Formats: sequence, C-alpha cells, structure tokens
Amino acid sequence: MQPSNEPSFRESVDLMFNRAVALMDLPAGLEEKIRVCNATYTVRFGVRLRGKIHTFTGYRSVHSEHMEPVKGGIRYALGVNQDEVEALAALMTYKCALVEAPFGGSKGGLRIDPREYDEHELELITRRFAYELIKRDLINPAQNVPAPDMGTGEREMAWIADQYKRMNTTDINGVACVTGKPTHAGGIQGRTEATGRGVQYALHAFFRDEQGLQKAGLKGTLKDKRVIVQGLGNVGYHAAKFLSEEDGCKITAIIERDGAVHDEGGLDVQAIYEWIGKHGTITGFPGVTVEDNGAKLLEADCDILIPAALEGVINLENADRIKAPLIIEAANGPVTSGADGILRKKGTVIIPDMYANAGGVTVSYFEWVKNLSHIRFGRMGRRQEESRHQLIVDELERLDRHLGDSWSMTPDFKNRYLRGAGELELVRSGLDDTMSTAYQSMADVWHGRDDVDDLRTAAYLVSIEKVAASYRAKGL
Ligand code: NAD
Repeated sequence: MQPSNEPSFRESVDLMFNRAVALMDLPAGLEEKIRVCNATYTVRFGVRLRGKIHTFTGYRSVHSEHMEPVKGGIRYALGVNQDEVEALAALMTYKCALVEAPFGGSKGGLRIDPREYDEHELELITRRFAYELIKRDLINPAQNVPAPDMGTGEREMAWIADQYKRMNTTDINGVACVTGKPTHAGGIQGRTEATGRGVQYALHAFFRDEQGLQKAGLKGTLKDKRVIVQGLGNVGYHAAKFLSEEDGCKITAIIERDGAVHDEGGLDVQAIYEWIGKHGTITGFPGVTVEDNGAKLLEADCDILIPAALEGVINLENADRIKAPLIIEAANGPVTSGADGILRKKGTVIIPDMYANAGGVTVSYFEWVKNLSHIRFGRMGRRQEESRHQLIVDELERLDRHLGDSWSMTPDFKNRYLRGAGELELVRSGLDDTMSTAYQSMADVWHGRDDVDDLRTAAYLVSIEKVAASYRAKGL
C-alpha cells in the first residue's frame, strides 16, 4: 500500500524523532541512546496442527529500558516484521513518557493471519509463543508486560497470563505479566474500550483548545462533525461508537480491509459492526453506498479523519489529496514522515499516534497496578464516599422541607450524587485526566514555541525530554 520510495516504518519514526531532537539541546550521544532500539529477539517455533508441524516467526523488541517493566502490545498479522516491531516499540517509549505511564517501550508480533486458525489452534500457537518469550523474561510482571494489539484481544491475553502462571507457580504477581485480560481473569473494567475511549477524550481536549481549533480551521463542538473512520476493529469501533452515540458526530464513512460504506447522513456504527461480526465482511451492508476501493474514501470531504487500522495508509501517493482539516492517528504510524511534511504544509492538523492512542497503555497501567495491589479500585473507599454524600443529601432534604416550594433538588440529583464511583467510573476518570493533562503539555509547546508548528513535534519534545531526564538521573 505504501509507495516503495518512502522510508520504512522505523525510519519514518526516526525521521520524526530527528526533527524534534534538532530543536533540543541534549548531551552528546544521548540522542542516539534514546533513538536506537536496545534489542530485538526473533523466535521461530513449531506447532503440530492438522497432522503436520507448522513453523511460526515471532518477535519481541525492547526499545528503551530507562524504566521497567517495558510495555507494548503483541500483534498478530501477516505483515509483522522486525522493522515494524522496532518502530512500534520506539513509539511505545515516547507514548509512555508522554502520558506518564512508568514504563519503557516494547512491542511484539507474530507473523500469522489469525483468521486462518480456529480457537483451539490459536490457543496452541499463543501458548507456545508465550512460552518462548516467558523463558527469556520477555514476558514478566517486573520486566516486560505485553498487551493486545492488532489481531489479538483479551482471549489471547488470558492464555498468556495462564501460561506464565503455569511456568511460575510461586510468583504472587504473576497475573500482572500481561494486561488487557478479561475482567474475570485479572483484567480491569474499561480496558477493552480504552484506546477508542482515549481517542474520544483526545478529541474533547482538542475541541477545548481554541487556538488548536483555529489552526485546523474548525469551529464549535463535536456535534454534527463529519467523521471518516478506517478500520472498525477494537480501536476504530469504540472511537466511532462513542463519538456518534455520545458526542453527536456523524460517521459518514467506514473503511474496512475489503471495502467501505458511505452515507453523508451518518452511518449506524453498531449495525455495521454487528454485520461484520456476522458476515466477516463489510460488503453487502444494506441501504448505503458501498465502495470497493475503500482507501479512496480517505480522500473524501470530512471534518475529522480517523485512521484506526494500520501504518502507512496516508503516504506520498495520497497525502496531497487528503481533504480532512484534522487527522487523529488512532492507529500507530498511519501517516508516513513524507506525508506528514506534505500535510503540515497544507495546514492539516494531525493529533499524533503517540498521544491519540495512548488510552490503551494508560488503562493497562491501571490494570497492572490493580494486579500488583491485589485489590479492585474503589473497594475500600466506595461505601465511605457514599455515606458522606448521604450526609449532604440528608441536610439538603431537611432544607427542602424547610424552604418548601421556593427551593428543591433537581429530580435525579440525589441518585447521581449518592452513587460512589465504581471501577469503570474511576478508570474513565483517570483516563480522561491523563489525556487532558498530556494534551495540555503538548499544546503548551505547540502554541508557545515559534520553532514548533505541529503537535507531533511538540509531543516528541515533551516525551524525549522526559526520557532524557530519566537517563540523566541514572547518570548515563
Ligand atoms: P484490530 O485487529 O482489532 O482491528 C483492526 C481493523 O482494521 C480490523 O477491523 C481490520 O479488518 C481492519 N483493517 C485491516 N487492514 C485494513 C485495511 N487495509 N484497510 C482498512 N481496514 C483494515 O486492531 P486494533 O487493536 O483496533 O488496532 C488498530 C490500530 O490501533 C493498530 O495500529 C494498533 O497498533 C493501534 N493500537 C491499538 C491498541 C489497542 O489497545 N488495541 C492500542 C494502541 C494502538
């Protein structure tokens, strides 16, 4: 998909990193130490399936160990290769620094099309891959903690956690070896939706930034904004669902791997998601315009473009024709460094991946902390909070009786105020706070420095400064 005259994904990430570092004053050699990937492990292993041994190739790359454990998803896709995992591991380092999740960066991948295997086969393959990584401490609650990514989800994470526990029966923190697990297997509420939810919160933060809106030539709120989404997987589905159902956005196009649907009046995200789940394809969805060449729709007129599938989809070939004034990179690396230059010149505002999709790692951080503390968030304080609220409500009710018709509580105030926060509310509130604080740190640089004209460079400046400070503190 990406033209061959472009740098590879990892080179693209390095070029963007270099643009930012040129504006910094780092001690000699530190820039290279931060940029390079510390180590990449390649494993080839066999699994007996359907009467014969199949050999699989997998990777786990560790980009930076300035903080441990290192963190980053495991991807199942046919395109997985060393260059890709190294690029993704580097992005994890910068992402964690930006949102202040106390991790270094890592990423893993298995070269496989998961749709070609049934559940039992996938379990055998996942457990064997996990075994290879666990025995080298490349999965370990204190050293390297994976999470879901493209082609994997909570089912695979549960198998990995179980495999780790079988191999480390006395490790009381074993369940913290991986995040994104189902809630009944040590997961946390709100992790599955977290990356898409984070995209929504990132857009909320952007729409509160008047200067940012002006730079993008946008006005008002998210209501009725026309949005195009590429990839209706975990990230794209949740982002599109929340933006349409809660913020009143119109999802005018959804682009999938085998086609796209388009309706200027706004698409029914839930119905399309269910259609894909049932039929395995977006084609044939009734009542809307179906396009065979889905990628063409990236160039359609809209207010916000959300690439949420894979890297390199906006590149030298199509960047010039992209009309969206605002792109939010829900996927990792959807805009190549060449395309980034073209779009910057056109004045397109890009909310960069390392910030836009950081909701996943943020909630993974909460899950890891929950696993290490062995207690659900809110369990100790919830009733106490509720009884303090009850005191105020009792007092207000006394006033209510006293003042008669001249004053009364709004009808559902009492119910809403009395309910203490459960785990999901706490997770969402922690995520919202993280996304809003991180946005502010980028926006201060974007609006405050004459030599910075885009959010990506601002994001790199903030995160590299944090990684550098950590290395300096270590005396490196
Ligand atoms: P997923 O496997 O759940 O979904 C990917 C979707 O993209 C699928 O619906 C797939 O059919 C579609 N797709 C694949 N190729 C396509 C193409 N050429 N054109 C259009 N659609 C295509 O994966 P995900 O977890 O949603 O991840 C998507 C992106 O978000 C990846 O770049 C990933 O690295 C990034 N990301 C994911 C998480 C997470 O928590 N899952 C966190 C941070 C970043």
